[in-house]
Amino acid sequence: MRLRRAARVILIGAPGVGKGTQSERLLRRFPQLSAISSGDLLRHNVKHRTPLGIKVESTIKAGGLVPDDLMLRLISNELHQRGWIFPAHPEGHVMTLASSGICAAETDSSGNGGNPSSDVETAAFLSSPTHAHGINAFGPPRVNEDPSASFLLDGFPRTATQADRLDEIVPINWAVWLKTPLEVIMERINGRWVHEPSGRVYNTTFNPPRVPGRDDVTGEPLVRRADDNEEVYRKRWERFLETSEPLLEHYARKGVLWEVEGMSSDEITPKLMREFERKFIE
Ligand code: ATP
Ligand code: MG
Repeated sequence: MRLRRAARVILIGAPGVGKGTQSERLLRRFPQLSAISSGDLLRHNVKHRTPLGIKVESTIKAGGLVPDDLMLRLISNELHQRGWIFPAHPEGHVMTLASSGICAAETDSSGNGGNPSSDVETAAFLSSPTHAHGINAFGPPRVNEDPSASFLLDGFPRTATQADRLDEIVPINWAVWLKTPLEVIMERINGRWVHEPSGRVYNTTFNPPRVPGRDDVTGEPLVRRADDNEEVYRKRWERFLETSEPLLEHYARKGVLWEVEGMSSDEITPKLMREFERKFIE
């Protein structure tokens, strides 16, 4: 199905609510869409021991939030790399990044593989001064309104500050709030397995891989996430409660917030698809 207009969508929801699962399903159904998962990007950096990864590892393991500034640079670099935003001025740099693809996932479900580059570039990325408004020196970048520049952000923004700053880069036109009761999510966390390179998510109870412990597409081994245990999960949940209210208000004020509730991802998917089609499909 082809998109009628550019979709610039974010997924908001408690940790483990299934943002990654919904994102994967949307991508499969709408090939013009591609996605960035902030968690996957961060884990990629941790795994490859980039300076950024080393810096954020303990925060993620403890269930904390990575500082807004770092997140902003990571995501805007990625948006720029993929051609979803342009600098307003041809010589304008988005976030003064000399680096290329340093934080891109190796491969992702959209096939937009990144190429992790040198430590020198990553160091430049980390030490580059933060611009007053974080974005670029030439005013707000132009937005690519072509449907092919549609994207989905999973896990970003997560705070009101991140949302404010994202507004300066690119206007989000749909914010989806995924809701599932805490007890249900808790149970699922224990069965969650992931294919690290792609971010594909499985669950031993309701979405098992065809071969146990193996990714359906590549056959590579699945792993447990270091922060998927009850103790860390509680911290992540607390962080979510603290930060989500102002975040949701932010998008409610803009009139782009949409809520969807379900006990499982399978219950949520059809509702999400229906609404997505209503909004973006001709
Ligand atoms: P899910 O289980 O739905 O994937 P999650 O929100 O727990 O949800 P990720 O999105 O993968 O998991 O994020 C993992 C960790 O990465 C977070 O706990 C946090 O430490 C860090 N992180 C990810 N996105 C952000 C962000 N936008 N701002 C700050 N920290 C982030
Ligand atoms: Mg995720």
